[in-house]
Amino acid sequence: MKLIQTVHEMQAEADRRRAEDRRLALVPTMGALHEGHLALVREARRHADHVTVSIFVNPTQFAPGEDYEQYPRTLDADLERLERLGFVEVVFAPSPAGMYPGGPAGHRTWVTVEGLDEHLCGRFRPGHFRGVTTVVTKLFLACRPHVAVFGRKDAQQFLILRRMARDLNFGVEIVGVPTVREPDGLALSSRNVYLSPSERAQATALSRAVSEAKRLAEAGEQRTKVLVEAMLRALAQAPDARVQYAEVVDTETLRPIEILEPGQEALAAVAVFFGHTRLIDNAFFRSPRR
Ligand code: AMP
Repeated sequence: MKLIQTVHEMQAEADRRRAEDRRLALVPTMGALHEGHLALVREARRHADHVTVSIFVNPTQFAPGEDYEQYPRTLDADLERLERLGFVEVVFAPSPAGMYPGGPAGHRTWVTVEGLDEHLCGRFRPGHFRGVTTVVTKLFLACRPHVAVFGRKDAQQFLILRRMARDLNFGVEIVGVPTVREPDGLALSSRNVYLSPSERAQATALSRAVSEAKRLAEAGEQRTKVLVEAMLRALAQAPDARVQYAEVVDTETLRPIEILEPGQEALAAVAVFFGHTRLIDNAFFRSPRR
């Protein structure tokens, strides 16, 4: 496994692999790797001969006041976990100055996917998705993958990136992997380490909320008001949870739905604060066809 830390070297490596006619996969991460990330890496192997994992805590996707400085950075442990998988060929871990030579504030070129960032997390994290789409574009241009793998845990991110790849003809297949969870349902997240034991115990409310909404919808409930109320009831079981949103949106437009159409694919999603720690969860579902 090779560690590459500059964009230039990464591009040369990707060009060499492409010249060998190999199919390349990229798994973009911010490190602090857990089993959720490793599920993406294993999925990548199924779609390609060559797997690159990028590790980069991207400053431009953190809004002012968010946890950019505190975000866990565990490069040595991450490299060990990836090495142990036995098939990752390249880890691309550029420096912030390598990715943003003029500093994040001096960056002038942005990729935005209009409209899809107006709801869910986008409403509360100004500039977040612009930072994500821009860095993923830069990572694609550095690593030149044929396929890129993302988690459906970050559902809005996944749907926005899928749309970006389609709209801009990136020629990169976007694959989404279902959320990997703890045995009690909590979605694995690098931010779970911030939770106190009591918050950790209460945090199961998120997965209960979204799976209850999915269950009701699949049983035929079409009124999203009823689904949202069920999610809020489940979240109310966690006394320290501050709910930021609980919404049901269409998976193409990401706009809130009032009444589900038969056969419509939708997403039930929540964001919750425990103290300063912000957790998200979601469930994709399809309302029954009549
Ligand atoms: P991050 O390092 O948090 O930016 O995440 C990197 C990738 O891993 C993203 O595509 C996430 O959606 C994905 N991911 C994070 N947690 C999970 C999880 N519990 N299950 C599946 N994918 C995940």
